[in-house]
Formats: sequence, structure tokens, C-alpha cells
Amino acid sequence: MPPSTRIECDVLVVGGGMAGATAALAARDGGARVVLVRKAPGSTGLSGGAVSVAQDPGCMPDTPFAARAGVVESARRIAATRPGHPYRLLRDRLDRLWNAVEFATGQMSEVLAPPSGRNRWLLTPFGHAHAAAACHRSMAAGDLAEVRGTLVVCGFEGHLGWDPGLIASGAVRVRALGGPTPRAVLLDLFRWEEGALGRPFDLARLLEAPGAAEEAGRVLRRALQRGDAAAVLPAVLGIDPATRVPERIAAEAGIPVAEILSDLPSVPGLRFHRAIEARLAAAGVEVLQGEVRSGAGPDLPAAVGGREVLARSWVLASGRFVGGGIERRGELRESVLGLPVLASEGPFADPSVRFAARPPASLTLRDSRAPQPLLAAGLRVDDELHPLDAEGRVLHPRIFAAGAVVGGHDPSSDGTGMGVAMFTGWLAGRSAAGRGA
Ligand SMILES: Cc1cc2nc3c(=O)[nH]c(=O)nc-3n(C[C@H](O)[C@H](O)[C@H](O)COP(=O)(O)OP(=O)(O)OC[C@H]3O[C@@H](n4cnc5c(N)ncnc54)[C@H](O)[C@@H]3O)c2cc1C
Repeated sequence: MPPSTRIECDVLVVGGGMAGATAALAARDGGARVVLVRKAPGSTGLSGGAVSVAQDPGCMPDTPFAARAGVVESARRIAATRPGHPYRLLRDRLDRLWNAVEFATGQMSEVLAPPSGRNRWLLTPFGHAHAAAACHRSMAAGDLAEVRGTLVVCGFEGHLGWDPGLIASGAVRVRALGGPTPRAVLLDLFRWEEGALGRPFDLARLLEAPGAAEEAGRVLRRALQRGDAAAVLPAVLGIDPATRVPERIAAEAGIPVAEILSDLPSVPGLRFHRAIEARLAAAGVEVLQGEVRSGAGPDLPAAVGGREVLARSWVLASGRFVGGGIERRGELRESVLGLPVLASEGPFADPSVRFAARPPASLTLRDSRAPQPLLAAGLRVDDELHPLDAEGRVLHPRIFAAGAVVGGHDPSSDGTGMGVAMFTGWLAGRSAAGRGA
């Protein structure tokens, strides 16, 4: 291979989701030359707009929002009660969790509102209140713990995608926790644009157009009543944050306006992915589109497209089933280095269980609300985030793992997905750059 196709760097990050981006930016912050390879956006690009770090596992469903533990204390309680969780493994460094969250959210400040240390409570499209240590700027004004008076829950007249009545009835249930009084409203928008069945991305682009958000604000203002304190709309308030769609609607309506969290397809997910790409470029991280396949490692070049990347350290941030970091080829395997999948949670947290050899069907439980071992499957790592091989030995002192590829937590449901990605990404990036944590 001609030398011009070879890139030499300090840190190679495999994966361009939240964990990989945080690792790359933390390593860059430490002065390292960083190359990040990613084949696709991963689950970060599908996320709903919340940065879920930790919510208090000890509180009861009727515990008021104000009485719930803050984010770091909640993570400590998770560490104390969930043996396989990465927070447990990293419990001696949990005092740095907030440094990681502040670093990562600060890097993404174009999109993310600054975190305060306590969870915001945001409505989902199904009317649940979801805890978020940080969230998109476009969502912050919809914090159920902060809105006083009536919260106007908006849908679009004739559009089948969102049901404001369902969402508002969910919000009624959390009123006793300190939430506002919800009121469902249908806004007569989009019908003139054949938008009644428009997909979220189409509606988001429509609202970005000059005059469109202002018109939405005027329609909302006509629907307002005395005592209305804020309004939430479906998560379609623009893809590009620079178009300031929520602010433009709010300026015409005369009350704060926010998005609820998103289901799939996710405008916030796409917005987040674009912000990550922009931030990586601005920070001087070289991003390569492509797939790293097994056989490489530190001091051995990794082939990416027509190029070779030779790095001193690696951060494996390749995600799980959505991202592609864990795949099933007869048995569950980690896809880049072929590492065994050993970590899970609950009864499978015992490292002596050969997780990889079990049929996947035996790793799901019939009760869909119970923790599903399959969904917590991933790499086992030591407390410095080195992946472990089948015998429990450190694979290589300069390979680190971060994010959803690390097992023992279920990012799809346990409310720690982005928190684990930010924390482990930050720690791994610093370690890979030789800064330690
Ligand atoms: C639908 C959905 C909604 C979610 N919503 C939320 C939410 O609102 N809040 C929250 O906190 N969490 C949410 N989560 C969980 C959260 O998105 C994940 O925990 C987090 O994004 C994981 O980040 P990651 O960087 O570890 O992995 P990913 O984001 O999956 O990134 C993995 C990356 O690795 C790359 N990759 C994999 N293999 C290779 C290879 N061989 N070569 C090159 N690149 C490779 C992928 O292309 C991708 O770029 C959601 C998850 C899903 C699936």
C-alpha cells in the first residue's frame, strides 16, 4: 500500500455514536491526534432527545419530582444495587461522572441544553414522564417539574402521527408528582401542504422555512387560554438548530414552546448525529467513513476503505445490536476484534456464565417489563475499561471499550444509555490519549 494512504495517529476510535464521539473529543482535548472510523450513525442517531444518565432506582412511582435524588446520587444508587452495571464497575470513579457529562454536553452545546445536576422530566409520545439529565435545547421548556400552570399538549389536526389526548392523559397521572395541568389541543397546521401524513423529517423541514414557524406560533396563540404557561409540540421543530424553530414559534405564541421526546423516526436523533459530525470536524478529529473488520489492533494497521490507520491506542465504541458492535454469527460475538460476549445483568451477571454459547432465545424473559439479559449483552471490561478475553484477561493494555458495546446495562430501557456512553467514552478517550482519569 503506498505510504500516502496510511494515516498514523495516537488514537483510533471505532464508532461515531455518543461514546465514540465523546472518546474522540476527550482524546483530542488531551492533545492526541485522533482518527474516528464509523460505518453509520448507530443508535445515537435514533435517540429520542433525552440524555438519560441515571434516575433514582429507590424512589416510588408516587415520589414527587422534587424529592428524587440528583443524577450522580442516582448513579451511585444504581451502582450499589446492580452488580453487572458499568456504574458499579466504575464506582470508585463515579465522582468523575459529572465531569464527563459536562464535558460531553458542553461539546454538543449547539444542540444540548446545559445540565443542572437534577433530572428534567420530559413527556414521551406515549404520555410517560421520562428522566433526562440533559436534553435538546428544544425540549428544555417542557420540563414537567418546572412548568407552573397549564401545559398545552399540541398535536396536528388530521395528522395520525401523534395523539395529544393520549400524551395529556399521561401527564395528568404525574400531576401529583409536581407536574403541571395538561390540556390537549389540535393545531390546524400542515393540511395546506399535504403534510397531514408527512413524516417527521418533512414536517421539521417545513417548519424551518421562512414564515412557517411564525405561522405555527400564530395558530398556537389562537388556541391559548388564560393560565396556559407553556406548550409542547411533537419533536419536529426543525432539524438544524440554527433555524431556531421553537424560539420563533414561542415569539409569536407568547409562551415558551418545547418539543416532547421522539419515537422513531427521530428528528432529534438526526439533529444529534449532525451536531456530532460538525463538532468532530471543528475539533480536528479525522473522520473516515467505513468499517473496521477484525484482525487489527494497536500497532497493526486497520484497513478502512482504501486506507490504513495505524494507531497507538484504540477505543472500541462500536455500539451493540443497532450500532453493529455485537452481532450474532451462530453465537453472539463482538464484531471488530471477535471478542466474547460475557457481560450481562441480573442472573447472567455472573462472569462464569458462558453467555456467548447460550441460544439467544434463552436470554429473553416472557415478562416484557423484566430486565432482558439479551439486551444487556456485551463485552466484559475491567475497571480501566480494557476488554477482557474469554479467560478474563486484559486483551491489550492500549485497547479500551466504551458505550453500548460494554455489557451489563440495557441502553434501550434502563435509563442510563447516554450516561454510560458519555462516562465510559470520556474515561476511555482520556486513557487512550495517555491522560488517565
Ligand atoms: C431507538 C433508540 C432510542 C434511544 N433513545 C435514547 C434516549 O432518548 N436517551 C438515551 O439516553 N438513550 C437512548 N437510547 C440509547 C442510546 O442511544 C445508546 O445507549 C447510545 O447512543 C449508545 O451510543 P454508542 O456510541 O455506544 O453506540 P452507537 O450510537 O450505536 O454507535 C456505534 C457506532 O459504531 C459504529 N460501528 C460499529 N461497528 C463498526 C465497525 N466494524 N467499523 C466502523 N464502525 C463501526 C456504528 O456505525 C456507529 O457509528 C436509545 C436507543 C435506541 C436504539
